[in-house]
Amino acid sequence: MLIAKFPLTPFQQNTRIVACERTRQAICIDPGAASDELAGYVRDNGLDLQAITLTHGHLDHVGGTSALAEAFPDAEVILHKDDEELYYSLPRQPLLMGIPQGQLAALGFAYDRPPTLSRIWQHGEVYEVGDLRFSIRHCPGHTRGHVIFAEVERKQVFVGDCLFEGSIGRTDLPGGDYDQLIDSITTQILTLDDQTIVHSGHGAETTVGCERESNPFLTGVYKLTRGRYM
Ligand SMILES: [Zn+2]
Ligand SMILES: [Zn+2]
Repeated sequence: MLIAKFPLTPFQQNTRIVACERTRQAICIDPGAASDELAGYVRDNGLDLQAITLTHGHLDHVGGTSALAEAFPDAEVILHKDDEELYYSLPRQPLLMGIPQGQLAALGFAYDRPPTLSRIWQHGEVYEVGDLRFSIRHCPGHTRGHVIFAEVERKQVFVGDCLFEGSIGRTDLPGGDYDQLIDSITTQILTLDDQTIVHSGHGAETTVGCERESNPFLTGVYKLTRGRYM
């Protein structure tokens, strides 16, 4: 399993190319921005980009979809239906986040409408990339339609903005819901093996066990004070 990380956008979003080493089938998880480096990596390594797989619809995760889809027109573009509206609102997202119109181009946030989705994720589906098998799990809370991709056998999970090393995704943006996010993490991520490597949308990699042990948002004491088990 090949995993290459490209931090893109002023938000340092971790765009990743993930591939099956045997078949050279590949996906791009969350292309944050147009990047020659990204397309170059796919070509230089003889990879066949079968899809642009999106965890959610925020601009720092989908901003490079147009450019990548143009470079690889056979790649399908897949997102959960509950983030469809957010995705197609990409040109308006920077303004909603308070970035002044006059600075959009300079910051790389001047977007056209992104390409039409090829299809939508179904919770529980298994998505195959060569020999790799990703379980698609709906994890709402950061956005309504956030999904994660779990390669259970190889112990790798791609969690977008649900979970970070020592932290969790923000829930103050439209569609965010704190309780729902904690519930999603608990039922969809913490149920994976402790050794599973967690690949987050921002920052460093961590493991399920490490976060279960030490993430202040997920430790038992915090849950008790929230009354979840009382
Ligand atoms: Zn996000
Ligand atoms: Zn993000």
